[in-house]
Order: sequence, then structure tokens, then C-alpha cells
Amino acid sequence: MKLIMRVLNLLLMLLILVGCAKAPEEIGTMATPELMSMGGDPIAISESTVKKDSASGMILTAKQSFQIGTQISIGIYDDQQVPDEVFNTLFKLIDVYEHKISKNIETTEISKVNANAGKEPIPVSDDIYDLLKRAVDYAKITDGLFDVSIGAVVNLWDIGGDTPKIPEKEALTQALATVDYQKIHFNDQNHSVSLPIEGTVVDLGAIAKGYISDLVGQEIKKLGYEAAIINFGGNVFGMGVKPGDAPWVVGVRNPLSEGIVGTLKVKNMSVISSGVYERFFIDDNIRYHHILNPQTGYPEQNGLLSVTIVTEKGIDGDALSTSLFLMGLEKGLAFAEASEHIEALFIMEDQSIYTTSRLSEAFSLENTEFSWKKH
Ligand code: FAD
Ligand code: MG
Repeated sequence: MKLIMRVLNLLLMLLILVGCAKAPEEIGTMATPELMSMGGDPIAISESTVKKDSASGMILTAKQSFQIGTQISIGIYDDQQVPDEVFNTLFKLIDVYEHKISKNIETTEISKVNANAGKEPIPVSDDIYDLLKRAVDYAKITDGLFDVSIGAVVNLWDIGGDTPKIPEKEALTQALATVDYQKIHFNDQNHSVSLPIEGTVVDLGAIAKGYISDLVGQEIKKLGYEAAIINFGGNVFGMGVKPGDAPWVVGVRNPLSEGIVGTLKVKNMSVISSGVYERFFIDDNIRYHHILNPQTGYPEQNGLLSVTIVTEKGIDGDALSTSLFLMGLEKGLAFAEASEHIEALFIMEDQSIYTTSRLSEAFSLENTEFSWKKH
């Protein structure tokens, strides 16, 4: 039942997020045999939905899964239905990386690095080594606001987990003492990583979804397809251009309730958001969300509800959506404005929206409860 609800949710999300000038006509569905995860359980995968885009005659085949703690949807355009084996290859790829990166699965490379904090260096595969280094680059750019060594603090709060709670002061102080990206030691000779402080936990949750969605996009290209929409729990990569040279129309989620505040038109770009609305709990009328300030150990409260980033690569969009959230409106907007390749949209608690100037044509405000402060 839970799986059916998830799949229905996914279908709804796909409809909301992939705007079409003319709705494609549904031409069928297909059952899928079970695909096994590296963990030994079947991966939760929906049947294919197959639709024809009446304007271009192209076929959109889409499938959904529940992986990396997130609802995933992949839709691929072709002149015929995309076979199950293609989707199986993509879901398998996500599974392989979940089993390298997750801090919640004991056997992953990251879990082995974490289990050896304060002990010995652990060799990791080249791609995980590079991913960790990229994560540390973002820590440097943000003066440590973005810090993937924050896992012990994330675990204490358990926001989005089974037992979310405000941590005891002493436990939080202890956990904060393990957080310092500058102490992550990289050995370029043998690609080993060590965490000198016992108890340090690396958590790549703020960057890895974007990284894995890039890998999925590359694989789709390798398999010979040009246009696809990849949605990792609302983080969307519109790969290539839609048939008819149309942009992808991606909804920007309303952080205060269901629905969207507006849409972004993009071609071959990732649209990735971080906000207070996805993982949070409320205690005594205070909302505690999952983007934590590494100095205080508390959820960042700076008047922001969400930050949406438009970039070519998902890895950058994911790291930057969290980073710019932590920087706050003024610094975050200045940072994005200064870089030609980063577009950003900020939604504030007072329901104002700020965008980088280059987004003024791509963004359309649709919810009039919000006011767009153009500059
Ligand atoms: P983002 O803003 O991109 O990231 C926020 C997350 O980053 C937080 O949840 C926290 O994990 C971390 N973080 C908080 N503060 C900071 C900071 N200052 N600097 C750096 N990082 C910070 N969720 C589950 O519920 N169950 C799972 O089994 C599960 N497995 C996962 C496996 C993998 C490989 C990955 C990548 C994610 C998994 N997740 C799982 C989801 C994960 O725990 C995060 O909640 C999710 O990635 C948050 O993404 P986001 O885009 O919503 O928010
Ligand atoms: Mg992120």
C-alpha cells in the first residue's frame, strides 16, 4: 500500500513538474520484473507509463522508483517506447552509488571511512575520492558553512528519521567537536581518506543526489537518448531539449503549502532546491529543519524558506542550494549574481522572491500570494 501511494505521488509530481504545451496522449503501461538491490531486497519500481507527444509524435516513457530515501522519476523521449532494460540499467546505477555513499548502510565506502574515524585511513574508489574532494571545495567556498563532516550533528537531530528531537546541550557540544572539514585528510597516492577526530561522520546528503543525477544523465546519453527528465525528489535535471526544441518547464515548489510558486523554463539544466519544507519537525511552534549551521549545530534561521539553483551540473546545483541557503539572501544572491553559470531563486518567510537578474526571463511567477522583487 505504501509503495502504491509512493508511486501515485511520483506520477502526480511528474505531471506537476514537467509542463507540456499540449498534454501527451497515454498509450499504455507495461509490467516490470523485480530488480534486486545490492542490499538483497527488490528495488521499488513502478510500471512504465508510455505517452505520445501529439505535437512532435515522440514517445515519452517514464518510470518511478524509491531509492536513496527519495522518490525518483525518470522520463525518456524517443521515437518508440524505451525498453525496461534501459530503466533497469539506470535504477541499478543509482543503487550502486547508494551502496557506495549512504551513511545509513554499514557496508558503503563512506560508512567504512566513518567507522574508522580516529583510527586508520580507508582507501575509497576514485569517484568517491573525487566527490569528497568536491564537497570539501564547497566547504572552502562557504568558509565552512557547507561541511560534510557534520554527520554526527545530523544524526543527533534525526530530522526526517524515526526519532527527530532537539538534542541535549552536552551531546550537541560533543557532536559539534567532531565537525571540521579541514581535518578530513586525503592521500592522493592511494586515494585513502582519514578522519582524525573519533566520532566524525561524513554525510554527503547535501551533494550526492545531484552527483548521482548527473551520472544518470550521462548514462542515458551513452545509451543513445537525447532528451530526458530526471527527477530526484523534486530536484530536476531537464536533459537536452524537449521534442520540438521546447524548454523543460520545471515547477518551483511552494515551501508553505502544496503546489508551486511559479515555473522555470530551462534547456539542459538542473533545477535543484533546498528548503525548510521537506524534512522538519515542529516543537513549541518552532520549525526545526534539516539544514544545519555547523557553528551553532542548530537549523539555520535566516528568513529563508528555500533556495533554488539552476546549473548545468546537478552536483553543483545540489551543493550550492544548501550552501546559498546557509549563506542567506544577501551573500547568496551576490555569490550567484557574480557567477555567470549559477542562477538562483530565493523564497523568503515574508513570501517575497528574489532571483538573479539573468533569471528574469526564465522564471514565471504563478502564485500571487508571493511577490517577486526583481532588480
Ligand atoms: P540538501 O539541502 O541538499 O541537503 C540537506 C542535507 O545535508 C541534510 O539532510 C543533512 O543530511 C546534510 N546537511 C545538513 N546541514 C549541512 C551542512 N551545513 N553542510 C553539509 N551538509 C549538511 N534519506 C532517508 O530518509 N533514508 C535513507 O536511507 C537515505 N539514504 C540516502 C542515501 C544517499 C546516497 C543519499 C545521497 C541520500 C539519502 N537520504 C536518505 C537522504 C538524505 O538523508 C538527505 O535528507 C537528503 O539527501 C537531503 O537532500 P535535500 O536535497 O532535501 O537537501
Ligand atoms: Mg544540496
